[in-house]
Amino acid sequence: MTIRTHILGFPRIGAARELKLALERHWRGEVSEAALEATGQQLRARHWALQRDAGLDYVTVGDFALYDQVASHIQLLGCEPARFNFTPEQSPLARYFTMARGEATQAQHADCGHAHAAGTAALEMSKWFDTNYHYLVPELSPQTQFSLAGERLLAEVAEAQALGHQVKAALIGPLTFLWLGKEKTPGFERLALLEQLLPVYGALLDRLKQQGVTWVQLDEPILGLDLPNAWRSAVESTYWQLNQVGVNILLATYFSPLEENLSLTCRLPVAGLHVDGIRAPHELISVTDWLPEHKVLSIGIVDGRNIWRTDLDAALAVLQPLAARRNGQLWLAPSCSLLHVPFSLEAETELDGEIKSWLAFATEKLSEIAVLKGALEGQSDAATLAALASSRLAIAGRRASPRVQRASVTQRLQALTPTVDRRDSSFPLRQAVQRARFQLPDFPTTTIGSFPQTAAIRAARASRQRGELASVEYEQQMRAEIAHAVARQEALGLDVLVHGEAERNDMVEYFGEQLDGFAFTRLGWVQSYGSRCVKPPVLYGDVQRPAAMTVAWTVHAQSLTHKPMKGMLTGPVTLLQWSFVRDDQPRASTALQLALAIRDEVQDLETAGIGIIQIDEPAIREGLPLRRGQWDAYLDWATRAFRIAASVVSDATQIHTHMCYAEFNNILPQIAAMDADVITLETSRSDMELLTDLGQFRYQNEIGPGVYDIHSPRVPSTLDMVRLLQKASAVIPPANLWVNPDCGLKTRGWAETEAALKNMVAAAQQMRAAA
Ligand code: GLN
Ligand code: ZN
Repeated sequence: MTIRTHILGFPRIGAARELKLALERHWRGEVSEAALEATGQQLRARHWALQRDAGLDYVTVGDFALYDQVASHIQLLGCEPARFNFTPEQSPLARYFTMARGEATQAQHADCGHAHAAGTAALEMSKWFDTNYHYLVPELSPQTQFSLAGERLLAEVAEAQALGHQVKAALIGPLTFLWLGKEKTPGFERLALLEQLLPVYGALLDRLKQQGVTWVQLDEPILGLDLPNAWRSAVESTYWQLNQVGVNILLATYFSPLEENLSLTCRLPVAGLHVDGIRAPHELISVTDWLPEHKVLSIGIVDGRNIWRTDLDAALAVLQPLAARRNGQLWLAPSCSLLHVPFSLEAETELDGEIKSWLAFATEKLSEIAVLKGALEGQSDAATLAALASSRLAIAGRRASPRVQRASVTQRLQALTPTVDRRDSSFPLRQAVQRARFQLPDFPTTTIGSFPQTAAIRAARASRQRGELASVEYEQQMRAEIAHAVARQEALGLDVLVHGEAERNDMVEYFGEQLDGFAFTRLGWVQSYGSRCVKPPVLYGDVQRPAAMTVAWTVHAQSLTHKPMKGMLTGPVTLLQWSFVRDDQPRASTALQLALAIRDEVQDLETAGIGIIQIDEPAIREGLPLRRGQWDAYLDWATRAFRIAASVVSDATQIHTHMCYAEFNNILPQIAAMDADVITLETSRSDMELLTDLGQFRYQNEIGPGVYDIHSPRVPSTLDMVRLLQKASAVIPPANLWVNPDCGLKTRGWAETEAALKNMVAAAQQMRAAA
């Protein structure tokens, strides 16, 4: 047996988010370039040491980036967009951060990072496949030129070698790099740049080889996508050309099955192939058989996308026959880069011990790989046996735990009737009942839910968390904030009010903390982009709502006004999408449980007299599978989960939903299938293109296209908004139109918020007058 172990990549941000802190201090001018680079170097050294100490055969170099791995490749390949007009005086690092963040004059939105303003805009951001990581999008045009700027990467390789490590370099493959880019010239096809790009990759591989690197991992996750034919045909010639250099290429695929690309991928002239055994376990046997024997097969056997401890016995049962088929030659790795999981469980001192025993973060996953190697090689030393035994115990404990499987939840699921996701009446009938009840003017005005999370609000929450502020006082303060938000909305003349979400830290965490089945980590940070990290909750068990979560706040808010007060909830799909979820049941089942918990809350709000309830689903689009063939199945259960949450109410209760951050054009039928009475959407950035599509599609229900971009600090004029509403009226029946901003206002200040909403209300009044 010759088993080798490695990883595809490691989280860069640091155990205590050292990189985040250093970056932010550098941007504030408090830390020099040299000091920031030194932090990077320390982190790399630490992370390589972890890999070596865990017993891995290679350390991975090239996965580190100060901001983003794709942005690093833009520099590595010498294709910084000309529009930045960089001058020779600007250091590579200064240029790097300008591409990432735009020019200093512009503001960046805290939530989504979209940059706005007059200066030079940053590179656009986009989601890295189906993860919550955002990469910087390469801008490609017929003028794009490539030239090798390998100094940084080669220096990192030298760093690792000086520390005595066996190095495997990791790079984004040329096809995936081009795929991730965006054409900046209409009609231009970015694949045309491949011919120019390959010599630069060739030169880079050659330099790595000269520096003594024997293995280079080239990531081509696009082999798991539905590739256009031109791209498929380019794969073979690309790797034929790169293989000429004579360095061992390990082609890495992940996130998705290879399907029709499987035989093509196995035939490629490369020294090795890595496949994702977690997302595509059913392909392992065919890959093992198709891949010629002299090539290395690397199996991604530990989940790089989730935080569960690996069932080592089950993994060995998968690996043993594969190893036998490969004459005992196998490489083992996590399924994909560990970028998508938190650093280490060591910091989780407050996490419930039982739940903690079920988890493995990046550092723990390194050990799992090493133990699997030992076990596969037949080692029976005490450490290997102990590791296997402890895994066995934890897996059995998790399977049997009453905190995971709750009989009450199972029973409820079994008792669901086929009509649980149906409202009593069709939309036109409901609309008539609701119109009679609420008597709203034409072009009714509302907002999306949150109002500014001021410094005072954040300070109150922090001091309550530190135990300095008693719950009663905290509650009083939040009630006062709500009263304040209600008074301001009344003064502005809005028609449907919100309580403002002052009491909520985060739209997922707030609900997760009150539901059974969720756990929270202390330092379970995962990089979202640049210095930004998120801390997803851990959804470990059957979900159940022990008590009402929002009713008291909403009822308090309603008591302060005669206008309708909208109850505000996060939808089941978004709760699922922004958490680490169970791997012991399908996502659809977890979504269904979440739907029932939200349904209970909807019911309680209605009973408490709340007539309008909004269920936010901003993340529904990002749950779409990478392969089109799986879209329908996903959209079926996702929209059903939403309807189950919403359908408990009577016809007279108005259900709203809100979506943002995505292009919805290709899922309009499914949005319609959610059957919300009103949907508020982000459209202002696409200048309402989406509306044209909605008009053509003949969307029936009421709709509030965002009339201004809340991500911009600019106060929109009444005229701007009237124009947008006129455009909207041309494609959507005016009687169905609502007037609202395009997202929540929590990241804005009160002054700009009031100024913008004042103009917005005026815009609605002008529309009414003109009707
Ligand atoms: N109701 C939420 C808010 O206003 C919606 C947030 C979102 O769309 N991401 O903040
Ligand atoms: Zn939004």
